[in-house]
Amino acid sequence: MKFFLPDSQDLVDPTFDFERERRSVTRQRQRDDLYAHEVFSTPAFDGLLVSKGIVDGFGALGSRYTLAQRHRLQRLGAPQFFRVDRAPNPLKLMGDCGAFTYVHEEEPPYSIDEVLEFYEGSRFDYGVSLDHIILEYIPSADEPGASKDAVPEPLRRRQELTLELARDFLREHKAGRHSFEPLGVAQGWSPKSYAASVKALQKMGYDYIALGGMVPLKSPEILACLVEIDKVRGPGTRLHLLGVTRTEHLPEFSRLGIASFDSTSPLRQAFKDDRDNYYADGHKYTALRIPQVEGNPRLQRDISSGKVSQENARRMEQASLEAMRLFEEGRRTVSQVVEVLLEYERLYDKDSKKDHAAAYEKTLTDAPWRRCPCEVCKALKHHVILFRGAERNRRRGFHNIWTFYRQLQGLGLDTSVAHRLKARARG
Ligand SMILES: [Zn+2]
Repeated sequence: MKFFLPDSQDLVDPTFDFERERRSVTRQRQRDDLYAHEVFSTPAFDGLLVSKGIVDGFGALGSRYTLAQRHRLQRLGAPQFFRVDRAPNPLKLMGDCGAFTYVHEEEPPYSIDEVLEFYEGSRFDYGVSLDHIILEYIPSADEPGASKDAVPEPLRRRQELTLELARDFLREHKAGRHSFEPLGVAQGWSPKSYAASVKALQKMGYDYIALGGMVPLKSPEILACLVEIDKVRGPGTRLHLLGVTRTEHLPEFSRLGIASFDSTSPLRQAFKDDRDNYYADGHKYTALRIPQVEGNPRLQRDISSGKVSQENARRMEQASLEAMRLFEEGRRTVSQVVEVLLEYERLYDKDSKKDHAAAYEKTLTDAPWRRCPCEVCKALKHHVILFRGAERNRRRGFHNIWTFYRQLQGLGLDTSVAHRLKARARG
C-alpha cells in the first residue's frame, strides 16, 4: 500500500541553530530549505499529492504558494520543483484538484482543460479527475424501501457531475495523448452509492479509482463502503483513498483493494493534536510545551494588560529550556522537569483544564527520541520533543511521517495486483 504525502510547502531550515534559536544570515529559503524527503536517508513516503486548490489558492483558503513558486512549478515541472531526485527512493507525483477547497461552491471552479494543463505542465505521474465532494453520509438510503427523498437532490447532482467530469476527463486525456495515468473519482453518500460510482467509472475504462469525501467518515463507515465496493470491483482495479485521518484500519483497507492513500495526520498531529504529537512504536507521545513568550498571542495579551510580568514569563521559559537541557545530560529527574514545565504552563495557559502532568511524565520517563534511529531525532536530540516554534514542530512531523512509513512497511501490506488476485483465488 503506497503512502502519498499531501504537499502544503512544509519545509525546514537546515541552518537553524536549536541552542541559540538563530538562522544563518545567508540562508535562502528557496535554495536551502528542505522537504521531508530531503531530510532522510531512507524512505519516508512513496509519493507527493499536489492539489491545484492548494497551489492556486481558492476563496478564503489562500494559496500555500507564492506567485513566484507557482510559476516555478509550471516552468520546471513538479519533479524538479520538489527535487525528487534528492529523495532516497523514487517518488511518484500525483495531482488532484483539492476539492475540499471549493466544497461550498455550486460547481467546481476549474475547467477540464485547466486541470489537464496543470497535470501535464507539472509532469505528474498520476492525475485525478475533477470532482465535487459529498460530505454527507446517509447509510439509511441503502435500506430496502428507503424513499428517494432520503438523499437530497444536490447530493445526487454532485455525484452525477463528478461522473460526467470523469467521463470527459478520460476522453480528453486520450485525445490529448497525455502521459500521466488518470484516476477517476468516486463520490457517494452511502456504501451502495459509492459502489455505483466505482462501477460506472470502471465501465468508462478507469482501473485506478480515487474515493473522495471519506475524510469525515468514521473507520467503520469507510469499511462498510469498501465492503460494498468490493462486490463490484474488477480484479485489476486499484483504489486510492483520498485523505485518511485514522490509520488503525489500514490492514483491512488493504485487503479491500486500497492500493494507495494520502494522509496529513502524521505531520499535523505533531503540532495540532492535544496529546498525540510524537509517533513511536506502540505509543504516541505528548510533546512538551515550551512556547516562545514572543510567539504566544495569549501570553502577549496578558503581558500588555499587565496580568503577567514579561520578565517572569521570560524567566520561566528559559528555566523550562534549561531544565530540558539538564535532563538530557542526566542532571535533572523526570519530576523536577515536570514541575518546571507545569509552572510555566500555569502562566501561559492558566484557564486550561488540560493536565499534562501524567502525559509529560510518560514522555520523559520513556524518552523515545533517544531510541529513534531517524536523522531528525539523531540531530535534534531532546529538541524534537519540544512543542515550540515551526522548526522543531515541523521536524517532529517529519519524524512522524518517517516512523509511520516504517510501521506501514512492517505491516507487510503488499497490494500488487498479482498478490490480490491470488488472495481472491484463495477466497
Ligand atoms: Zn525520529
